[in-house]
Amino acid sequence: MTAVSEIVLPITFESLGLAAPILEAIKAAGYTEPTPVQARAVPEAIKGRDLLVSSQTGSGKTAAFMLPALQKLTQQHEKPGRGPRILVLTPTRELAVQVTKAADTYGRNLRVKTLSVVGGMPYPLQNRMLKNGVDILVATPGRMLDQMNSGRIDLSRLQFLVLDEADRMLDMGFKDDLEAILAKVPKTRQTMLFSATIEPGIVRLASSFLRDPLRIAVDTAQTRHVNISQRLHFADDMGHKNRMLDNILKGTDLHQAIVFTSTKRSADQLAQTLHIAGHSAAAMHGDMNQGARNRTLQALRRGGLKVLVATDVAARGIDVQGISHVINYDLPTQAEDYVHRIGRTGRAGRSGTAISFANVRDHHMVRSIERFTTQKIEVAVILGLEPKMRPFLKPAPRGTKPGGGKSYARPAQRGAHRSAARTSPYPR
Ligand code: AMP
Repeated sequence: MTAVSEIVLPITFESLGLAAPILEAIKAAGYTEPTPVQARAVPEAIKGRDLLVSSQTGSGKTAAFMLPALQKLTQQHEKPGRGPRILVLTPTRELAVQVTKAADTYGRNLRVKTLSVVGGMPYPLQNRMLKNGVDILVATPGRMLDQMNSGRIDLSRLQFLVLDEADRMLDMGFKDDLEAILAKVPKTRQTMLFSATIEPGIVRLASSFLRDPLRIAVDTAQTRHVNISQRLHFADDMGHKNRMLDNILKGTDLHQAIVFTSTKRSADQLAQTLHIAGHSAAAMHGDMNQGARNRTLQALRRGGLKVLVATDVAARGIDVQGISHVINYDLPTQAEDYVHRIGRTGRAGRSGTAISFANVRDHHMVRSIERFTTQKIEVAVILGLEPKMRPFLKPAPRGTKPGGGKSYARPAQRGAHRSAARTSPYPR
């Protein structure tokens, strides 16, 4: 594996080596210059290299693989047929839909047939579409393997394979499916593997299925989310969480929010509680059928929905630029998920706010998140909604009031908060 230490970045899309119709589509999308991951990955991919890329969510990674993939489609293929020339595997249906949309956006000036093959979609429709032929296939591993085993996908024309969010695919238990798919794709194809973190499982996958890959590390999960301000509120109980959430959601700086819960049931319950309290809120989780998930996502994207209450799996890949806040009503069970969650805000260089609620039992998780992100999360209180319990906080210096010094006052504006401690309250 070759590592890239220093690269002089080309700073314009024109210098990346892309064909004119693709450049025009990029311009129409309103992009003025490549993001760092695009600047690094696109020229190398166009040269034909396999790439192992670690890149933060929201960094523009979809275009980093889709642009060179489309470039490949501008060249004639010697083999006739109806099978895909490009295959993108993603962990979730939502991400697959997102990638398909990106292919349509960047490929709008090319005659490209894109299709997503994901679970939850009726087979007859999917089968018909596959029969009609496809250039770019975006699929989740389970359904992909299913369709391959039924002989409906001819992979003999495949030239370019992308494993998107490969770490997540492994986390979700797709390892065997992935290996079964990879064993059947032509050896001559080019491969790009994207992952937020490069862990041992990813390295093993890369060494089995990538050819002398160039390793590109841009904005890894451990890199600071400089455009996302993060804070943590202690919560005494569920009632306290609900009051704080209501206060935050009424804040004038909040445009749209994703609220994460740990279970599907609590997502439903919380969405209902918020709805009753007058918030425009809906739940999204894995038990909902694809149609309902799409409708909810569409409402969020169009701005008709202000608060999405979701579980981790359902929220993966959501790219809605209006999301100003991510709120961890429940903390995730894995530190990586924290990074993915907060990456739903601060998209495409905007600023965002990530707020986590934590109770006494959460201190190990908070420490683990801080270790993973190599950042401390500032503890804050909402004026008027201070926690009764302030676990693990260092005792305040004599003569000061809880929360850092001055006496509390009712907020002039809803959503106002103050920093309670600059450093983590948790013992290291
Ligand atoms: P991704 O990391 O691929 O999910 O992309 C995050 C967001 O950045 C998406 O909304 C893209 O449309 C947007 N984006 C990707 N590349 C660029 C670029 N070069 N300039 C501006 N926005 C971009």
